[in-house]
Amino acid sequence: MSNHEWSFQTKLLHNEAKVDLGTGAVSVPIHHSSTFHQFDVDKFGKYDYARSGNPTREALEQAIAELEGGTRGLAFSSGMAAISTAFLLLSQGDHVLVTEDVYGGTFRIITDVLTRFGIEHTFVDMTDLHQVASEIRPNTKVIYMETPSNPLLKVTDIRGIVNLAKANGCLTFLDNTFLTPELQRPLELGVDVVLHSATKFLAGHSDVLAGLAVVKDAEIGERLYKLQNAFGAVLGVQDAWLVLRGLKTLHVRLKQSSESALKLAKFLSEHPKVEEVYYPGLSFHPGYETQRYQAEGAGAVLSFKLADGEAVKTLVQNVKLPVFAVSLGAVESILSYPAKMSHAAMPPEEREKRGISDGLLRLSVGLENVDDLIKDFAEALEKLPQINRKESVR
Ligand SMILES: *Cc1c(COP(=O)(O)O)cnc(C)c1O
Repeated sequence: MSNHEWSFQTKLLHNEAKVDLGTGAVSVPIHHSSTFHQFDVDKFGKYDYARSGNPTREALEQAIAELEGGTRGLAFSSGMAAISTAFLLLSQGDHVLVTEDVYGGTFRIITDVLTRFGIEHTFVDMTDLHQVASEIRPNTKVIYMETPSNPLLKVTDIRGIVNLAKANGCLTFLDNTFLTPELQRPLELGVDVVLHSATKFLAGHSDVLAGLAVVKDAEIGERLYKLQNAFGAVLGVQDAWLVLRGLKTLHVRLKQSSESALKLAKFLSEHPKVEEVYYPGLSFHPGYETQRYQAEGAGAVLSFKLADGEAVKTLVQNVKLPVFAVSLGAVESILSYPAKMSHAAMPPEEREKRGISDGLLRLSVGLENVDDLIKDFAEALEKLPQINRKESVR
């Protein structure tokens, strides 16, 4: 069933998993089987043991491969399981260049775990191609991107980094959690491994933990598959089904949430109590042009800076609609406090250096009516003391 002629929106529904060929079921059957009977002693079937392969997980793996424009998808028990397994492509003595405002969990695996196995790293400002070029070493094997980055929504020039990597014989990994293939398809820009926390927009309902990796190159795909099977952090079948279910509405969810995010970003950027707004859909965002060039939208996540930790406390105590929680990419709006949540694993001085101050909040915009969200934030912001707003913002 080749679907190349259909738009992304249609492909979300009309893919390999559309109809179960055995029964005609229009929802992917959940195959609760850890092992598979072999009918022929000389010729084993496609499936033998569920860590190595299960039809339900495979349906999701095929779906994400097709949506990202790859040849192989792999599903893991969490985003961190996918990211950690991808790092197992590296060996002792290798070096990785990492974007400096990387997800906190990725920061932890790189600094606390990979270092014990002799894998070195350097954090760089990935928006500065000269800095990236100057930090590449003879043993650099991977350049690791996250764009837009978390939580400052910095935009990396994907093609620029890919060109640098190719010229220096290294692979590129990209965490595509914030935009999903709906808005950004890094494999088409030459990236080698796309990674996802499917826990977020792909599944979209704050009800499942899942991770995905997608590649275009068959040889890298085979190596990653062997690592997935060896390491064993595979996604369970119930969870695979929940991600497949979530995927069906990805287009409408992201469209609605992105539109609301832009409206909220504009509202916040004009508000006297807000010092700065970070959203790549705002024309004064430094990454605006790059974002427009390499992605089909700015996504549904934005960050904004209040005066200090006290202001954050007051706002959080007064907003009524968003849940105050870690995570993002769900039907309900989620307000997060990076300094104490996603980036709590980062030492305070590292955080400050990266601009993740005590006044910074991140908002993942959900499916509530945007006027209700704006009203909610307007009322909560009223409770904050007046500040002298920096004019540098625009
Ligand atoms: C949540 C997240 C992860 C980690 O994914 P889990 O599913 O929580 O393990 C990685 N990268 C980004 C950008 C995330 O938001």
